[in-house]
Amino acid sequence: MASKYKWLFDPGHGGVIDGQPQTAGKRSPVWPDGSQLFEGEFNRAIVSNLIDLCKNNNIDYYNIVDEKEDISREERINRANKQFENDKRCIYLSIHANAGGGKGWEIYTSRGETKSDKIASVFFQKFKEEFPQIRMRSDTSDGDPDKEAQFDVLVKTRMPAVLTENFFMDNFEECKNYLMNEEGRKRIAKAHFDAIVEMEK
Ligand SMILES: [Zn+2]
Repeated sequence: MASKYKWLFDPGHGGVIDGQPQTAGKRSPVWPDGSQLFEGEFNRAIVSNLIDLCKNNNIDYYNIVDEKEDISREERINRANKQFENDKRCIYLSIHANAGGGKGWEIYTSRGETKSDKIASVFFQKFKEEFPQIRMRSDTSDGDPDKEAQFDVLVKTRMPAVLTENFFMDNFEECKNYLMNEEGRKRIAKAHFDAIVEMEK
């Protein structure tokens, strides 16, 4: 049986190819132990976890960026809209990690889109349940300057669209405990998936 929605997963930025991060910036500081997170690698790990969960539960999905290359936002939007053209059940979900000095979790929607707002509320609730101790950021006025540019994936995609900023990669505790930690990544993916399951009800 087909699921109610088709979930379009978009892992932000480029991954790492032969040790070479494909996107400038978009990385944690080098921590005292020499480790460093590249955001595009993290985003892809979450999408990969989500795909496994969807497969095991017969939820329809499509991976917008199957490549490790940093696909332009314009192309990502085109791919999403093409899916939507053929299947009006589509919901777009962009996955990121935050930076710019802060902590916690937040979700963005395009402006004035009631369906996206409802989806965002469900995600917000599921993250609060999975991570009761973390700071949920509902004030989105602060943040890094390039966030504006990321909004085009929410504005120009024709279906309901949300973007999650999963913790701060320049916050040592959040980066080490969640973003660079296998168990933390599983929990982040699970919280996304719990929201998907709730939407599918
Ligand atoms: Zn990002």
